[in-house]
Amino acid sequence: MNETYSLVKPDAKEWSDLPLCPPARRQTVVAWLIVLVTTVASFIADRGWEDLPPEYWQGTYQALDMYGLSATFVALIVSFTGWLFGRLAVAMAPIVLLYAAIPYSLDTSESATFWWAGTIAAATWWLIQARFTLRQIHAVRTLASVSNTGTTIELGSGAIEALRRFKRRSLSWATGLSALAIVGWLAAMMAMPAAVGRTYQELEDLALPDCLGTAAATVSILALVQWHRCGWRFLARRRIGTVVWHVPIVAGPVQGLWASLSEDAGTVPFNRASSVPSCSCIEESLRANPDEADLYGDIGVLASAYCPVHGIDRINSLSVEQFRSEATNTWLWDEESLLPMSTQAESDRTLLIGYAGNAFTGLPARFTNGMAEIYPGADDLVEERESHTNESEWERPLRPLGGVLDRIDLAPAGLGGHAVRYLHGRAWFDTTDEA
Ligand SMILES: [Zn+2]
Repeated sequence: MNETYSLVKPDAKEWSDLPLCPPARRQTVVAWLIVLVTTVASFIADRGWEDLPPEYWQGTYQALDMYGLSATFVALIVSFTGWLFGRLAVAMAPIVLLYAAIPYSLDTSESATFWWAGTIAAATWWLIQARFTLRQIHAVRTLASVSNTGTTIELGSGAIEALRRFKRRSLSWATGLSALAIVGWLAAMMAMPAAVGRTYQELEDLALPDCLGTAAATVSILALVQWHRCGWRFLARRRIGTVVWHVPIVAGPVQGLWASLSEDAGTVPFNRASSVPSCSCIEESLRANPDEADLYGDIGVLASAYCPVHGIDRINSLSVEQFRSEATNTWLWDEESLLPMSTQAESDRTLLIGYAGNAFTGLPARFTNGMAEIYPGADDLVEERESHTNESEWERPLRPLGGVLDRIDLAPAGLGGHAVRYLHGRAWFDTTDEA
Protein backbone atom coordinates (compact mmCIF):
# COMPACT_ATOMS: atom_id res chain seq x y z
CA MET A 1 0.00 0.00 0.00
CA ASN A 2 1.43 3.36 -0.98
CA GLU A 3 0.61 6.80 0.27
CA THR A 4 0.46 9.72 -2.08
CA TYR A 5 2.24 12.93 -1.24
CA SER A 6 2.38 16.25 -3.09
CA LEU A 7 5.77 17.20 -4.45
CA VAL A 8 6.77 20.75 -3.52
CA LYS A 9 9.80 22.48 -4.95
CA PRO A 10 10.57 25.64 -3.00
CA ASP A 11 12.58 28.50 -4.38
CA ALA A 12 16.15 28.42 -2.99
CA LYS A 13 15.91 31.88 -1.43
CA GLU A 14 12.55 31.25 0.21
CA TRP A 15 13.75 27.90 1.53
CA SER A 16 16.82 29.49 3.10
CA ASP A 17 14.69 32.31 4.52
CA LEU A 18 12.43 30.00 6.56
CA PRO A 19 12.56 31.05 10.21
CA LEU A 20 15.00 29.05 12.34
CA CYS A 21 14.11 27.79 15.77
CA PRO A 22 15.65 29.76 18.67
CA PRO A 23 18.69 27.92 20.07
CA ALA A 24 17.63 24.86 22.08
CA ARG A 25 20.15 25.65 24.79
CA ARG A 26 18.63 29.04 25.53
CA GLN A 27 15.11 27.64 25.58
CA THR A 28 16.17 24.87 27.95
CA VAL A 29 18.31 26.89 30.32
CA VAL A 30 15.73 29.63 30.82
CA ALA A 31 12.98 27.08 31.59
CA TRP A 32 15.25 25.21 33.98
CA LEU A 33 16.38 28.38 35.75
CA ILE A 34 12.77 29.43 36.33
CA VAL A 35 12.15 26.14 38.16
CA LEU A 36 15.41 26.39 40.10
CA VAL A 37 14.91 30.01 41.21
CA THR A 38 11.27 29.37 42.16
CA THR A 39 12.21 26.32 44.22
CA VAL A 40 14.95 28.20 46.07
CA ALA A 41 12.68 31.23 46.66
CA SER A 42 9.92 29.00 48.04
CA PHE A 43 12.37 27.28 50.35
CA ILE A 44 13.43 30.67 51.70
CA ALA A 45 9.81 31.88 52.02
CA ASP A 46 8.90 28.81 54.06
CA ARG A 47 12.12 29.10 56.09
CA GLY A 48 12.79 25.50 55.11
CA TRP A 49 16.08 25.34 57.01
CA GLU A 50 14.50 25.85 60.44
CA ASP A 51 13.60 22.96 62.72
CA LEU A 52 9.90 22.26 62.73
CA PRO A 53 8.13 23.46 65.89
CA PRO A 54 7.27 20.75 68.46
CA GLU A 55 3.51 21.18 67.93
CA TYR A 56 4.01 20.24 64.27
CA TRP A 57 4.63 16.63 65.25
CA GLN A 58 1.20 16.48 66.95
CA GLY A 59 -0.54 17.50 63.69
CA THR A 60 -2.18 14.80 61.64
CA TYR A 61 -1.32 13.74 58.11
CA GLN A 62 -3.72 14.97 55.42
CA ALA A 63 -4.09 14.03 51.76
CA LEU A 64 -3.03 17.59 50.92
CA ASP A 65 0.34 16.95 52.57
CA MET A 66 1.03 14.26 50.06
CA TYR A 67 0.46 16.63 47.15
CA GLY A 68 2.54 19.42 48.67
CA LEU A 69 5.42 17.19 49.60
CA SER A 70 5.51 15.30 46.30
CA ALA A 71 5.36 18.64 44.46
CA THR A 72 8.39 19.86 46.42
CA PHE A 73 10.29 16.70 45.55
CA VAL A 74 9.39 16.93 41.88
CA ALA A 75 10.48 20.59 41.82
CA LEU A 76 13.76 19.55 43.46
CA ILE A 77 14.31 16.75 40.95
CA VAL A 78 13.73 19.16 38.05
CA SER A 79 15.93 21.80 39.70
CA PHE A 80 18.80 19.33 39.67
CA THR A 81 18.18 17.66 36.32
CA GLY A 82 16.05 20.10 34.28
CA TRP A 83 18.80 21.03 31.82
CA LEU A 84 19.08 17.37 30.79
CA PHE A 85 15.63 17.40 29.23
CA GLY A 86 16.53 19.74 26.38
CA ARG A 87 13.62 21.55 24.77
CA LEU A 88 11.16 19.39 26.73
CA ALA A 89 12.03 21.49 29.78
CA VAL A 90 10.06 24.38 28.27
CA ALA A 91 6.80 22.43 28.53
CA MET A 92 7.82 20.72 31.74
CA ALA A 93 8.53 23.85 33.81
CA PRO A 94 4.99 25.33 33.99
CA ILE A 95 3.45 21.91 34.79
CA VAL A 96 5.92 21.24 37.61
CA LEU A 97 5.40 24.67 39.17
CA LEU A 98 1.61 24.61 38.80
CA TYR A 99 1.55 21.22 40.51
CA ALA A 100 3.28 22.85 43.49
CA ALA A 101 1.32 26.10 43.42
CA ILE A 102 -2.09 24.43 43.91
CA PRO A 103 -1.48 22.45 47.15
CA TYR A 104 0.61 25.25 48.67
CA SER A 105 -2.21 27.77 48.05
CA LEU A 106 -4.76 25.39 49.58
CA ASP A 107 -2.79 25.09 52.81
CA THR A 108 -1.94 28.83 52.69
CA SER A 109 1.83 28.47 52.82
CA GLU A 110 4.05 31.53 52.60
CA SER A 111 5.59 30.05 49.48
CA ALA A 112 2.32 29.94 47.48
CA THR A 113 2.98 33.36 45.95
CA PHE A 114 6.40 32.27 44.75
CA TRP A 115 5.09 29.05 43.23
CA TRP A 116 2.44 31.04 41.37
CA ALA A 117 4.94 33.66 40.19
CA GLY A 118 7.17 30.84 38.92
CA THR A 119 4.24 29.18 37.17
CA ILE A 120 3.37 32.41 35.39
CA ALA A 121 6.99 33.01 34.36
CA ALA A 122 7.35 29.45 33.05
CA ALA A 123 4.00 29.61 31.24
CA THR A 124 5.01 32.90 29.63
CA TRP A 125 8.29 31.38 28.45
CA TRP A 126 6.34 28.43 27.03
CA LEU A 127 3.97 30.85 25.24
CA ILE A 128 6.87 32.72 23.67
CA GLN A 129 8.31 29.47 22.29
CA ALA A 130 4.88 28.22 21.20
CA ARG A 131 4.28 31.46 19.35
CA PHE A 132 7.53 30.95 17.50
CA THR A 133 6.59 27.39 16.56
CA LEU A 134 3.18 28.54 15.29
CA ARG A 135 4.83 31.24 13.22
CA GLN A 136 7.25 28.72 11.76
CA ILE A 137 4.43 26.29 10.92
CA HIS A 138 2.60 29.12 9.20
CA ALA A 139 5.70 30.07 7.15
CA VAL A 140 6.32 26.46 6.14
CA ARG A 141 2.67 26.02 5.19
CA THR A 142 2.72 29.13 3.02
CA LEU A 143 5.92 28.04 1.29
CA ALA A 144 4.53 24.55 0.72
CA SER A 145 1.42 25.90 -0.93
CA VAL A 146 3.18 28.46 -3.18
CA SER A 147 5.79 25.95 -4.31
CA ASN A 148 3.45 23.04 -4.96
CA THR A 149 4.43 21.51 -8.31
CA GLY A 150 0.97 20.03 -8.83
CA THR A 151 2.50 16.56 -9.12
CA THR A 152 2.13 13.78 -6.63
CA ILE A 153 4.66 11.23 -5.54
CA GLU A 154 4.31 7.95 -3.73
CA LEU A 155 6.42 6.92 -0.80
CA GLY A 156 8.55 3.80 -0.99
CA SER A 157 7.94 0.98 1.45
CA GLY A 158 11.02 1.84 3.53
CA ALA A 159 9.85 5.42 3.95
CA ILE A 160 6.32 4.35 4.90
CA GLU A 161 7.68 1.89 7.44
CA ALA A 162 10.05 4.50 8.90
CA LEU A 163 7.22 7.03 9.31
CA ARG A 164 4.99 4.44 10.94
CA ARG A 165 7.73 3.30 13.27
CA PHE A 166 8.41 6.88 14.28
CA LYS A 167 4.76 7.55 15.03
CA ARG A 168 4.36 4.27 16.88
CA ARG A 169 7.43 4.96 18.99
CA SER A 170 6.37 8.41 20.11
CA LEU A 171 2.78 7.33 20.81
CA SER A 172 3.88 4.28 22.76
CA TRP A 173 6.11 6.43 24.96
CA ALA A 174 3.15 8.70 25.68
CA THR A 175 0.69 5.89 26.41
CA GLY A 176 3.24 3.83 28.34
CA LEU A 177 4.11 6.74 30.62
CA SER A 178 0.41 7.57 31.08
CA ALA A 179 -0.37 3.99 32.09
CA LEU A 180 2.52 3.99 34.53
CA ALA A 181 1.31 7.28 36.00
CA ILE A 182 -2.20 5.90 36.55
CA VAL A 183 -0.79 2.84 38.32
CA GLY A 184 1.36 5.15 40.47
CA TRP A 185 -1.59 7.32 41.50
CA LEU A 186 -3.75 4.27 42.28
CA ALA A 187 -0.98 2.91 44.50
CA ALA A 188 -0.62 6.30 46.25
CA MET A 189 -4.40 6.44 46.83
CA MET A 190 -4.42 2.91 48.20
CA ALA A 191 -1.60 3.71 50.61
CA MET A 192 -3.34 6.89 51.75
CA PRO A 193 -5.91 5.54 54.27
CA ALA A 194 -3.13 3.96 56.33
CA ALA A 195 -1.41 7.33 56.79
CA VAL A 196 -4.23 9.92 56.91
CA GLY A 197 -5.20 10.92 60.42
CA ARG A 198 -2.04 9.65 62.07
CA THR A 199 0.23 12.20 63.71
CA TYR A 200 3.60 13.07 62.16
CA GLN A 201 5.20 11.73 65.28
CA GLU A 202 3.67 8.33 64.60
CA LEU A 203 4.67 8.43 60.97
CA GLU A 204 8.22 9.47 61.95
CA ASP A 205 9.69 9.79 58.51
CA LEU A 206 8.32 10.05 55.01
CA ALA A 207 4.92 8.44 54.64
CA LEU A 208 4.50 5.81 51.93
CA PRO A 209 1.95 7.93 49.99
CA ASP A 210 4.57 10.71 49.72
CA CYS A 211 7.01 8.41 47.96
CA LEU A 212 4.36 6.93 45.68
CA GLY A 213 2.91 10.38 44.99
CA THR A 214 6.34 11.74 44.02
CA ALA A 215 6.93 8.88 41.62
CA ALA A 216 3.42 9.16 40.16
CA ALA A 217 3.71 12.94 39.74
CA THR A 218 7.12 12.66 38.05
CA VAL A 219 5.86 10.07 35.58
CA SER A 220 2.64 12.07 34.98
CA ILE A 221 4.67 15.15 34.08
CA LEU A 222 6.84 13.14 31.67
CA ALA A 223 3.68 11.70 30.11
CA LEU A 224 2.10 15.15 29.69
CA VAL A 225 5.30 16.46 28.11
CA GLN A 226 5.37 13.54 25.68
CA TRP A 227 1.71 14.13 24.75
CA HIS A 228 2.52 17.80 24.29
CA ARG A 229 5.26 16.83 21.84
CA CYS A 230 2.96 14.45 19.94
CA GLY A 231 0.34 17.20 19.84
CA TRP A 232 2.72 19.68 18.21
CA ARG A 233 3.81 17.08 15.66
CA PHE A 234 0.23 16.25 14.85
CA LEU A 235 -0.73 19.90 14.50
CA ALA A 236 2.30 20.76 12.34
CA ARG A 237 1.89 17.78 10.02
CA ARG A 238 -1.83 18.37 9.78
CA ARG A 239 -1.41 22.05 8.85
CA ILE A 240 1.28 21.40 6.26
CA GLY A 241 -0.17 18.23 4.83
CA THR A 242 1.46 15.24 3.18
CA VAL A 243 4.24 16.83 1.20
CA VAL A 244 7.62 15.77 -0.08
CA TRP A 245 10.08 18.64 -0.36
CA HIS A 246 12.45 18.82 -3.25
CA VAL A 247 15.23 20.56 -1.37
CA PRO A 248 17.38 23.24 -3.01
CA ILE A 249 21.13 23.12 -2.36
CA VAL A 250 21.32 26.04 0.00
CA ALA A 251 21.38 26.34 3.73
CA GLY A 252 17.80 25.76 4.75
CA PRO A 253 16.12 25.04 8.08
CA VAL A 254 17.71 21.57 8.28
CA GLN A 255 21.31 20.40 8.17
CA GLY A 256 23.35 17.40 7.11
CA LEU A 257 21.51 16.72 3.85
CA TRP A 258 24.45 17.48 1.61
CA ALA A 259 27.27 15.51 3.14
CA SER A 260 26.93 12.73 0.58
CA LEU A 261 27.22 15.10 -2.37
CA SER A 262 30.82 16.09 -1.70
CA GLU A 263 32.11 12.89 -0.11
CA ASP A 264 34.01 11.53 -3.07
CA ALA A 265 35.14 14.80 -4.66
CA GLY A 266 38.85 14.84 -5.41
CA THR A 267 39.27 11.06 -5.29
CA VAL A 268 39.97 8.37 -7.85
CA PRO A 269 38.27 4.98 -7.43
CA PHE A 270 40.96 2.59 -6.24
CA ASN A 271 40.57 0.04 -9.04
CA ARG A 272 40.78 2.81 -11.63
CA ALA A 273 43.94 4.24 -10.08
CA SER A 274 45.58 0.84 -9.85
CA SER A 275 44.73 -0.18 -13.41
CA VAL A 276 46.37 2.83 -15.09
CA PRO A 277 50.14 2.28 -15.07
CA SER A 278 51.08 5.96 -15.40
CA CYS A 279 48.82 7.04 -12.49
CA SER A 280 50.85 8.12 -9.47
CA CYS A 281 47.90 8.76 -7.09
CA ILE A 282 48.32 5.58 -5.02
CA GLU A 283 52.06 5.99 -4.79
CA GLU A 284 51.81 9.63 -3.70
CA SER A 285 49.07 8.85 -1.23
CA LEU A 286 51.07 6.01 0.35
CA ARG A 287 54.13 8.24 0.62
CA ALA A 288 52.05 10.83 2.48
CA ASN A 289 50.11 8.40 4.71
CA PRO A 290 51.94 5.06 4.99
CA ASP A 291 49.63 3.94 7.81
CA GLU A 292 46.52 4.03 5.70
CA ALA A 293 47.67 1.34 3.24
CA ASP A 294 45.00 -1.11 4.46
CA LEU A 295 42.16 1.30 3.86
CA TYR A 296 42.34 1.28 0.06
CA GLY A 297 40.30 -1.20 -1.81
CA ASP A 298 36.72 -0.23 -1.11
CA ILE A 299 37.18 3.53 -1.09
CA GLY A 300 38.74 5.95 -3.50
CA VAL A 301 42.26 7.22 -3.20
CA LEU A 302 42.87 10.95 -2.98
CA ALA A 303 43.87 12.17 -6.43
CA SER A 304 47.41 13.53 -6.51
CA ALA A 305 47.86 17.08 -7.80
CA TYR A 306 50.88 15.85 -9.77
CA CYS A 307 49.48 12.65 -11.27
CA PRO A 308 49.90 12.69 -15.06
CA VAL A 309 46.45 11.11 -15.41
CA HIS A 310 44.51 12.77 -12.57
CA GLY A 311 46.60 15.84 -11.72
CA ILE A 312 45.74 19.50 -12.06
CA ASP A 313 47.65 19.94 -15.32
CA ARG A 314 45.68 17.11 -16.81
CA ILE A 315 42.33 18.67 -15.77
CA ASN A 316 43.30 21.99 -17.30
CA SER A 317 44.57 20.44 -20.51
CA LEU A 318 41.15 18.98 -21.28
CA SER A 319 39.25 20.78 -23.98
CA VAL A 320 35.82 22.11 -23.00
CA GLU A 321 34.14 19.20 -24.77
CA GLN A 322 36.47 16.67 -23.15
CA PHE A 323 35.80 18.17 -19.73
CA ARG A 324 32.05 17.96 -20.23
CA SER A 325 32.19 14.35 -21.25
CA GLU A 326 34.36 13.52 -18.21
CA ALA A 327 32.43 15.74 -15.81
CA THR A 328 30.95 12.95 -13.71
CA ASN A 329 34.43 11.76 -12.70
CA THR A 330 35.07 12.58 -9.05
CA TRP A 331 38.79 13.36 -9.48
CA LEU A 332 38.07 16.49 -11.55
CA TRP A 333 36.58 18.23 -8.54
CA ASP A 334 38.12 19.94 -5.54
CA GLU A 335 37.72 18.01 -2.28
CA GLU A 336 35.50 20.77 -0.87
CA SER A 337 33.37 21.11 -3.98
CA LEU A 338 29.97 19.55 -4.45
CA LEU A 339 29.79 16.96 -7.21
CA PRO A 340 27.73 17.92 -10.25
CA MET A 341 24.18 16.71 -10.26
CA SER A 342 22.42 15.46 -13.26
CA THR A 343 19.42 17.49 -14.37
CA GLN A 344 17.87 14.32 -15.68
CA ALA A 345 18.94 11.62 -13.25
CA GLU A 346 16.27 11.62 -10.61
CA SER A 347 18.43 9.55 -8.28
CA ASP A 348 20.56 12.64 -7.61
CA ARG A 349 17.74 14.64 -6.14
CA THR A 350 17.50 15.12 -2.42
CA LEU A 351 14.01 14.93 -1.00
CA LEU A 352 12.68 15.57 2.46
CA ILE A 353 9.50 13.74 3.39
CA GLY A 354 7.00 15.62 5.53
CA TYR A 355 9.15 18.54 6.73
CA ALA A 356 6.85 20.61 8.96
CA GLY A 357 9.15 22.88 10.93
CA ASN A 358 10.95 21.98 14.15
CA ALA A 359 8.03 19.88 15.38
CA PHE A 360 8.72 17.40 12.59
CA THR A 361 11.92 17.87 10.61
CA GLY A 362 11.24 15.17 8.02
CA LEU A 363 12.91 12.09 6.61
CA PRO A 364 15.69 12.54 4.04
CA ALA A 365 14.93 10.60 0.86
CA ARG A 366 15.63 10.37 -2.86
CA PHE A 367 13.81 9.30 -5.99
CA THR A 368 13.83 5.54 -6.40
CA ASN A 369 11.72 4.01 -9.17
CA GLY A 370 9.64 7.16 -9.25
CA MET A 371 8.92 7.01 -5.52
CA ALA A 372 10.34 8.90 -2.59
CA GLU A 373 12.41 6.36 -0.71
CA ILE A 374 14.74 6.75 2.25
CA TYR A 375 18.43 5.91 2.00
CA PRO A 376 19.05 2.37 3.19
CA GLY A 377 19.48 2.39 6.95
CA ALA A 378 18.87 6.14 7.28
CA ASP A 379 15.42 6.09 8.83
CA ASP A 380 15.84 8.90 11.32
CA LEU A 381 14.53 12.43 11.12
CA VAL A 382 16.97 14.98 9.77
CA GLU A 383 18.40 17.49 12.23
CA GLU A 384 17.13 21.01 12.26
CA ARG A 385 19.69 23.68 11.74
CA GLU A 386 20.30 25.78 14.79
CA SER A 387 21.00 29.43 14.28
CA HIS A 388 24.40 29.18 15.98
CA THR A 389 25.59 26.16 13.97
CA ASN A 390 29.07 26.39 12.57
CA GLU A 391 28.47 27.58 9.03
CA SER A 392 30.94 25.27 7.31
CA GLU A 393 28.86 22.33 8.47
CA TRP A 394 25.87 23.19 6.42
CA GLU A 395 26.42 25.98 3.98
CA ARG A 396 27.12 25.35 0.36
CA PRO A 397 30.94 25.35 0.21
CA LEU A 398 32.36 28.57 -1.19
CA ARG A 399 34.72 28.30 -4.11
CA PRO A 400 37.86 30.46 -4.25
CA LEU A 401 37.51 33.71 -6.16
CA GLY A 402 41.04 34.07 -7.55
CA GLY A 403 42.99 32.00 -10.06
CA VAL A 404 40.04 31.11 -12.25
CA LEU A 405 41.05 29.56 -15.58
CA ASP A 406 37.65 29.27 -17.21
CA ARG A 407 34.01 28.49 -16.68
CA ILE A 408 32.28 25.65 -18.48
CA ASP A 409 28.54 25.35 -18.81
CA LEU A 410 27.69 21.71 -18.09
CA ALA A 411 24.11 21.91 -19.35
CA PRO A 412 25.02 20.22 -22.68
CA ALA A 413 26.18 17.23 -20.61
CA GLY A 414 22.86 17.16 -18.77
CA LEU A 415 24.36 18.46 -15.52
CA GLY A 416 22.71 21.40 -13.79
CA GLY A 417 25.47 23.97 -13.28
CA HIS A 418 28.90 25.22 -14.30
CA ALA A 419 32.41 23.92 -13.79
CA VAL A 420 34.92 26.55 -12.73
CA ARG A 421 38.48 25.52 -13.54
CA TYR A 422 41.44 26.93 -11.61
CA LEU A 423 45.03 27.58 -12.62
CA HIS A 424 46.39 25.85 -9.52
CA GLY A 425 43.64 23.58 -8.30
CA ARG A 426 40.91 21.17 -9.18
CA ALA A 427 37.61 22.38 -10.59
CA TRP A 428 34.64 23.53 -8.52
CA PHE A 429 31.06 22.81 -9.31
CA ASP A 430 28.70 25.80 -9.32
CA THR A 431 25.06 24.81 -9.14
CA THR A 432 22.36 26.73 -10.83
CA ASP A 433 19.75 27.91 -8.39
CA GLU A 434 17.13 25.58 -9.77
CA ALA A 435 19.19 22.50 -8.99
ZN1 LIG B 1 46.21 9.26 -10.80
